[in-house]
Amino acid sequence: MATYKTRALVVKKTKLKEADLILTLLAENGEQLRAVAKGARKPGTTFSARLEIFSIVDAMLYKGRNLDTITEVRSVDTNEASRRDLEHLSYGAVISEFVEKVALEGEENPVLFPLTCAALQSVGRVEADALPFVIAGYLLKAISYLGYKPSIGQCTVCGASKEDYAQEMAEFADEVDLDGEGVFSISAGGWVCPLCSGFGELEADDIVSEPVVAWVKALIGLKFPQIEEMFSASEDAGALAGELLSFCDKWIYAHLETHMRSLAYLSRL
Ligand SMILES: [Zn+2]
Repeated sequence: MATYKTRALVVKKTKLKEADLILTLLAENGEQLRAVAKGARKPGTTFSARLEIFSIVDAMLYKGRNLDTITEVRSVDTNEASRRDLEHLSYGAVISEFVEKVALEGEENPVLFPLTCAALQSVGRVEADALPFVIAGYLLKAISYLGYKPSIGQCTVCGASKEDYAQEMAEFADEVDLDGEGVFSISAGGWVCPLCSGFGELEADDIVSEPVVAWVKALIGLKFPQIEEMFSASEDAGALAGELLSFCDKWIYAHLETHMRSLAYLSRL
């Protein structure tokens, strides 16, 4: 029998016919599954309640030609707090959209499931004002694992490290005239040293401000509880929320070549 069992996160649900649901799931091994839950919306059934968006379930599925069918489901974690109001749901939608885009059918990815679950737990813990930081942290970590990590300490053009560069600057300060710190460019993939950024014009829209770069670096390196602490301890972080989301939007567009609708919407709020 072509049945199989997996732990999975419910990423999206769509109504099908009168009583069924189509679910998009992120399986524990990182692959995306699409499955039908037959009769899930019939009155009196608890099937649907266990398949709320962002809930983690142990599911039994039957392999179909196109879509698989969910035959049994046991709740592991309802993640209820992560969808407690409209704001949390709106930010959660970024996670759903991202998973749908990057998790592929039949392709394993060991990091995506634990990372996404950790992000949703963090979404559930924080108040609305910290959500942009949790979401940006999720996206930046996931992007880095997928091979599109922003280069922060090294010139993306010549490979010189920021430290080496500062040393050379000090040594040759009398002979060459190289001012400045370089720039952080989205299209170039990160920091571009003063020497390399001298070639050609970079568009203003492409250059990222220093405080945003500092947050990007922190968000990639810190775990979610630490991100939550850093946000609480910072008095002016809130003012950067829009810029940070806009950075993630532009970065994903430039390097993963996909447009995140949910993110573009949030960064304009
Ligand atoms: Zn360079």
